[in-house]
Amino acid sequence: MKTKRFTADQVEEAAEILKNGGLLGIPTETVYGLGANGLDAAAVGHIFEAKGRPQDNPLILHIPSALWLERYCDHIPAAAYALARRFWPGPLTMILEHKDIVPDAVTAGLATVGMRCPSHPVCRAIIQAADLPVAAPSGNTSGRPSPTNMADMLEDMDGKIDGIVDGGPCSVGVESTIIDLTVTPPRLLRPGGVTLEELREVLGEVAVDEAVTRLMAAGEHPRAPGMKYRHYAPKAPVTVVRGAPEQSARYIREHLEEGDGVICFAEFLPLFEGYPTESMGPASDQAEQARRVFDALRYFDGTDVQRIWAQGPDPTGIGLAVSNRLNKAAGFHIVEV
Ligand code: AMP
Ligand code: MG
Repeated sequence: MKTKRFTADQVEEAAEILKNGGLLGIPTETVYGLGANGLDAAAVGHIFEAKGRPQDNPLILHIPSALWLERYCDHIPAAAYALARRFWPGPLTMILEHKDIVPDAVTAGLATVGMRCPSHPVCRAIIQAADLPVAAPSGNTSGRPSPTNMADMLEDMDGKIDGIVDGGPCSVGVESTIIDLTVTPPRLLRPGGVTLEELREVLGEVAVDEAVTRLMAAGEHPRAPGMKYRHYAPKAPVTVVRGAPEQSARYIREHLEEGDGVICFAEFLPLFEGYPTESMGPASDQAEQARRVFDALRYFDGTDVQRIWAQGPDPTGIGLAVSNRLNKAAGFHIVEV
């Protein structure tokens, strides 16, 4: 299949692909997504084939506004509308009970569905032109780091999807925050662009799922099946070194060997001269770290690096999402210094 490239002013043409049951690469503010008509089980099935995604890992339904929630969800709590008022359109996915109209292919047979209203103007224009709820996971091959620009998505999906729209680099850079509103208290399943601190301002108490901060053991059942899979991982094994930036940098410098690569904060680049190195931006700029983390992980797959060391970021604010992605990429192989 030839993958058609669309510019941001060709959304009408691109939306035709969704209406016709095809697969479309879609820019969002979080990461690039692999979209299909969310009401067409066959089209949604093709997402799983293109990604090599396990069948029990559900997708998110993308809608143009909170007004569409009632079309697809039942027993919507007041908290959902409170969150929508504050954070939609934006990088927040809410887990809600779904109506029968939502195909099992989207929900992996769960009684719940993930709902999101994205803010990227090109993404919004595509959804509006298609006039459909768009089912989409991240646009990477299953297990690889998520794509945060069109070139990264084409690296995984060229020839496997009908088209892709160029919306420029993603402004957030990590996937949406996922909050489960079907349990009390609401539970954070995945940290992302909307922070835990912000969620607590609206919801009060918020539980944090154990899968966010540690590896699920064999035989354990996470809240969502997708949480058990290896994620975001480059080919070479990753070790995250957690601690004050000066200390984690020094630890990595002392343990660095020939054939190793490093993901570090910008100010420590000179320390690793001569080694393949990717910067996450300044230690103090968490938003920049979020934008760069997946590209940094992806970079090493194009090198012959045998091991990757990464400085662990401060896990507050959006840093919780960045450290979660790095920890998962490392299979929670973490050194505390
Ligand atoms: P991705 O954006 O690639 O991470 O894919 C969508 C994410 O949403 C996956 O991590 C899913 O596990 C999660 N998700 C989708 N629907 C649900 C649901 N009903 N309950 C819990 N998690 C979900
Ligand atoms: Mg994904």
